[in-house]
Amino acid sequence: MNGMLPQRPFTRSRAERVRTGALIALMHLLPVSMIFAGTTSTDWLLFAAIYPFQAIGVGVCLHRYFAHNAFRTSRGFQFVLALFCSATFGDPIRFAGKHRLHHLHTDREGDPHTPLHGFWHSWFGSHLDSRYTDKEICAQVPNLTKYPELMWLHRHSLVPGLVLCLVAFLIGGLSGMAIGVLLGAAILVNQSSAVNYFCHRYGRRRFDTDDQSTNQMLVSLLVFGEGWHNNHHRYPVSARAGFCWWEIDMFYWVICAFEALGLVWDVKRPPEHLRQAKLLPSRT
Ligand SMILES: [Zn+2]
Ligand SMILES: [Zn+2]
Repeated sequence: MNGMLPQRPFTRSRAERVRTGALIALMHLLPVSMIFAGTTSTDWLLFAAIYPFQAIGVGVCLHRYFAHNAFRTSRGFQFVLALFCSATFGDPIRFAGKHRLHHLHTDREGDPHTPLHGFWHSWFGSHLDSRYTDKEICAQVPNLTKYPELMWLHRHSLVPGLVLCLVAFLIGGLSGMAIGVLLGAAILVNQSSAVNYFCHRYGRRRFDTDDQSTNQMLVSLLVFGEGWHNNHHRYPVSARAGFCWWEIDMFYWVICAFEALGLVWDVKRPPEHLRQAKLLPSRT
């Protein structure tokens, strides 16, 4: 697969890429070392309490809300959603801008993380450098850059996550921080990359979209509904990625719960004719 598509040049300096790489390596190595060294029940209680917020931060907040405007909400709750993202060191403006570029150039030159640039780039490399400048990324999200609080998070995206690390450290020490915060963040990096890679290479297609996107039941079960990716590329604005009753989509259930509580509204759903569309033959 390597080299099938030409790549845009690096836009970040070598020092910036090394720094991000070191953070991702630390997220993986510290929790694994702690598991070998011995963990406590407090560590795992912290994980159980924080990981759901981290997962919702990536799937519901970064992807379906900030990148795709799948529902509307108040400015106050929008900031709460942005703080969910911060639990994984996520930056709504950077993620949404980069993700809109993925949908704009899917599986073509300019796609920040297509598998057609190879496994390494799709899985980890695009986290180190999306090959777009900050200006190009911000230009994709004028609906977000107009909010000073989101721009502050864009400039200081590590700060809330580091505060969360400090709180976990004060409760559970180094292992509390590693298992309570960093393990969940590392799992979510790999869950997102699994969608970016597997759901553009293997699986079934319902729609003949102009890309390689697929629906992957296993990835969907592991990533709470994000693996219904061919559905998603056919109708990206939908808050619901699983179009049929058996296409389990837990992130959509979370959005329905927010809607029932009156926290969000104008939730976009797929039209009936798309929900009834038949699967195309398998792709291998
Ligand atoms: Zn995609
Ligand atoms: Zn998307």
